[in-house]
Amino acid sequence: ANKLGSKKERTLAMIKPDGVTKIGDIFELINTANLIVTKAKMIKLTWSQAADFYMEHQSKPFFNNLVQFMSSGPVVAMELMGDEAISIWRRLLGPTDSAVARREAQESVRAQFGTDGIKNVAHGSDSVAAAARELEFFFPSTMGHGPSNTAIFTDC
Ligand code: ADP
Ligand code: MG
Repeated sequence: ANKLGSKKERTLAMIKPDGVTKIGDIFELINTANLIVTKAKMIKLTWSQAADFYMEHQSKPFFNNLVQFMSSGPVVAMELMGDEAISIWRRLLGPTDSAVARREAQESVRAQFGTDGIKNVAHGSDSVAAAARELEFFFPSTMGHGPSNTAIFTDC
């Protein structure tokens, strides 16, 4: 914790296929919340990559639909940094179901841009452990050949 008692954190934010056209508005909300985007990439997940990312939900009835949806088009994965980044981004997202979000958190990302319980615009890590796993999933620390982004934003 810093002298104000807040924690600098990193979290994984992922714009889902239905949210990609709203990315400008979503960036604006991220900026307003004092979070900064320290890494970003757009990729199309394969079925098996999406299943791997969401493996905690593999026994749920919606798992197949979720994996199908998440591999149906490009996603944008981002590392966000800031004080309490994990909970701030989750709060900005709002409740999982977009209809509930519209009732309970009208300013939230899912309330404004979501469709339903599955097409809900974006993902956010729900804990420090999940953030570590999910950031490693999209931004592996062993980069192999080619340019590395590990030295960027060491200050934040
Ligand atoms: P969150 O994304 O808010 O952390 P969960 O981790 O519970 O929510 O679920 C992961 C994703 O699975 C949700 O964002 C949503 O896309 C989908 N999902 C969750 N619950 C349902 C449901 N009951 N029906 C359909 N899709 C769901
Ligand atoms: Mg979740």
